[in-house]
Amino acid sequence: MKPHDLVVIGSGTAAQVASTRVRRAGRTVAVVDHRPFGGTCALRGCDPKKMLISGAEAIDAAHRMQGHGVAGELRISWPELVAFKRTFTDPVPQKQEARYAAQGIDAFHGLARFTGRDAVTVAGQELKARHILVATGARPVPLRLPGAEHVITSDRFLELESLPQRIVLIGGGYIAAEFSHIAARAGAQVTVLQRGDRMLLHFDPDLVNWLMVKFAELRIDVRTQATAVRIEQTTNGFLVHADGPRGKEAVEVDLVVHAAGREPELEDLDLAGGHVAVSKNRLELNEYLQSVSNPLVYAAGDAAGMGPPLTPVSAHDGLVVATNILDGNRHKPDYRGVPSVAFTVPPIASVGLSESQAQAQGLKYKLKSESTPYWFTARRLAERVYGYKTLVEEGTGQILGAHIVGPCADEVINLFALAIRHNLTARDLQTTMFAYPTGASDIGYML
Ligand SMILES: Cc1cc2nc3c(=O)[nH]c(=O)nc-3n(C[C@H](O)[C@H](O)[C@H](O)COP(=O)(O)OP(=O)(O)OC[C@H]3O[C@@H](n4cnc5c(N)ncnc54)[C@H](O)[C@@H]3O)c2cc1C
Repeated sequence: MKPHDLVVIGSGTAAQVASTRVRRAGRTVAVVDHRPFGGTCALRGCDPKKMLISGAEAIDAAHRMQGHGVAGELRISWPELVAFKRTFTDPVPQKQEARYAAQGIDAFHGLARFTGRDAVTVAGQELKARHILVATGARPVPLRLPGAEHVITSDRFLELESLPQRIVLIGGGYIAAEFSHIAARAGAQVTVLQRGDRMLLHFDPDLVNWLMVKFAELRIDVRTQATAVRIEQTTNGFLVHADGPRGKEAVEVDLVVHAAGREPELEDLDLAGGHVAVSKNRLELNEYLQSVSNPLVYAAGDAAGMGPPLTPVSAHDGLVVATNILDGNRHKPDYRGVPSVAFTVPPIASVGLSESQAQAQGLKYKLKSESTPYWFTARRLAERVYGYKTLVEEGTGQILGAHIVGPCADEVINLFALAIRHNLTARDLQTTMFAYPTGASDIGYML
């Protein structure tokens, strides 16, 4: 087989963007994946999760509006909700295959492993390439505790045919927050074992505090400073043992879910065989997303780990790498103003700098923050959680950071992202006419 101009390892967002761009420029491209084509976001991440969140949102809305003109109890039918999710996920791999075929991109199934600077093998076949893109995504960090084999990953959680009654989530980041909100609204009794001092460490502490009201309402048992140390199988399920300041504790559950973080998925690649340098399970890359030890190799998305592990970042990296391959190294990733959302109900969202980051950079800024459940946006929905924090630079009026929790936070944060990325000022936002009444029409009051 003739060498391809580009071999892409992975078929997720980063791979799709890079392969399409390079192929459109008339170059030959191959894509390799050992899982069904489509990647994490479409098959095992953002999209299927958000479809389950849709069920949780419906239940939450009905519950909030009880006594305000809505009567009768609604409930989640888990099998139906998962079947609804599948109407989206099931067709994805075939659509992707068809898209690659239509674009003239060669598709290979199997694990890719480096066999040289310019070569990988896939299912016994050697693929030579002028460039190789590592777009292999991330995997759950291995849990090193006795009984770890009983823990299911987020992939499996999103596939469950039925939802067990008692669930423990190990970890306290966005996966734990979102899954606990889904499961609790589907009727499960949920415990979260979080090693850190609080949930959602990547979000503003004040706003997370306001959101915790919702966890309490849902009777989610959030145990902070609780480190899971051992999982024991019992006749009724599992006993999850944890250590913390309260001493030793144990939770009896039917299901244990891994929500303790993810890391670049590099293990099966035999990177040494490709002379691709790695340090502490991170690829060593230059500012062009190129391997520092093998210039034929680039990385993008979660595998590169240069920006936050989010789908829009993977797409951005994919484009940066494609243009560097086509034009020579001229493009660097730009992660300014990447918004981040935990899709709890209601959501919590953040973009730009946190207070502590702004302080660490010695910036002078005006801070405005308030818990605002009495604003119309929250009151019309009978929502008790609504609040914001904004940081605006003194002198320039530039928006340094915005943090929102409550209804519409997941949409409104995008307008702050637009402002940060394109250097709009607080005044620019304040003088924009937003449709009323919408979440965005509150922006003027947040600044
Ligand atoms: C539960 C969950 C929820 C999420 N929710 C959100 C969200 O709401 N919003 C958001 O922005 N992000 C979310 N993310 C993160 C987002 O899904 C990822 O950042 C994004 O999908 C990464 O894309 P990627 O192209 O870098 O890699 P991926 O899409 O992960 O693709 C990597 C592919 O490489 C393949 N692969 C790995 N190793 C090899 C090998 N050796 N040979 C062949 N193939 C290989 C894998 O099978 C995989 O298909 C979520 C993630 C999870 C797990």
